[in-house]
Amino acid sequence: MFKIAVLPGDGIGAEIVPEAVKVLEVVGKKFGHSFDFTEGLIGGAAIDAVGVPLPEDTLKLCKSSHAVLLGAIGGPKWDTLPVHLRPEAGALLPLRKALGLYANLRPATLYNSLLEASTLKKEVIEGIDIMVIRELTGGLYFGEKKREKTPEGQIAVDTLVYSTEEIKRIARLGFEIAMKRKKVLHSVDKANVLESSRLWRETVTEMSAEFPEVELIHMYVDNCAMQLVRWPKQFDVIVTENMFGDILTDQASMLTGSIGMLPSASLGGQVGLYEPSHGSAPDIAGQKKANPLATILSAAMMLRYAFDLSKEAQIIEDAVVKVLELGFRTPDIMKEGFKLVNTEEMGDRVAEQIGA
Ligand code: NAD
Repeated sequence: MFKIAVLPGDGIGAEIVPEAVKVLEVVGKKFGHSFDFTEGLIGGAAIDAVGVPLPEDTLKLCKSSHAVLLGAIGGPKWDTLPVHLRPEAGALLPLRKALGLYANLRPATLYNSLLEASTLKKEVIEGIDIMVIRELTGGLYFGEKKREKTPEGQIAVDTLVYSTEEIKRIARLGFEIAMKRKKVLHSVDKANVLESSRLWRETVTEMSAEFPEVELIHMYVDNCAMQLVRWPKQFDVIVTENMFGDILTDQASMLTGSIGMLPSASLGGQVGLYEPSHGSAPDIAGQKKANPLATILSAAMMLRYAFDLSKEAQIIEDAVVKVLELGFRTPDIMKEGFKLVNTEEMGDRVAEQIGA
């Protein structure tokens, strides 16, 4: 039996997560696996219910599960709370830290039937299949922060810290994943300016000796941002630090048409976290407009990485392709001539394909 902690969170989280659960249930039934789902509170929903964004019970639930399925957290209602109570700083970052999730895997795969949904030209994006690996528990987001008053105003300080060990473990994952794919790894840094990036580049270069079959290409982050829209097909696996990865993964998402299509897996500790790459989308929450495919594809990543059920993961991914080929579209990817469906209907169509 596979124990899954289910954390819908805020906004569209409560609409998309049930669709992924629905799909997992159909997969379980078809292949004889038993998934045990237990819901927990997180983010704004947890603040409203118990006063903190990451309750002890939720942390305990996650640690005692085999995997965590998360929707999204945050929203304008909680934006003005003190930092430690805000959904992201108070829940997401501590949860990643507590579970030891130092690596975030975000595939940016373009489905042929969605070629028209991207803002980029067809010939530039056709066939792209990029895996971005972002370091998740170091760098600027976790370094010491402070404010100081000055006679003129204030000084704000964020600290960018990386240790050799932190770089080594994420670089190793990058090389290992590159070995399973096209054996080309782009390591992205800003070594011309930042000391932490110079250590990053030295460490990744040293490690490349262990993976002689992998072609290692170093690239500055500003160039990478440009190359991602100029000629994204040059990339297969990208490994980078926390903040660069945060920005580049959002950029890569737009190559595929909608952020509502992009799954993610956060790995490194005993229990992995699987969540869509997008946020809680307060602008469309409660309107049944959210695209549940990123969450459904995150569930497929869970099957592959947490439970070693590659065949079952592939069945979900194939079902998503089929549903898109059949012309079903949520509003974010809708074009004239296609069949508009709501969040739940999209989940039903995927479940039907798997059950068929
Ligand atoms: P967002 O990803 O929530 O939304 C950006 C845009 O994409 C919006 O127009 C939204 O409608 C659209 N969108 C996102 N997901 C979609 C989906 N599944 N289907 C269709 N359209 C979708 O980012 P934001 O607006 O910057 O942030 C909103 C809230 O989410 C904020 O409170 C932010 O802090 C939070 N957030 C949470 C996470 C997380 O939980 N991991 C990540 C990013 C942002």
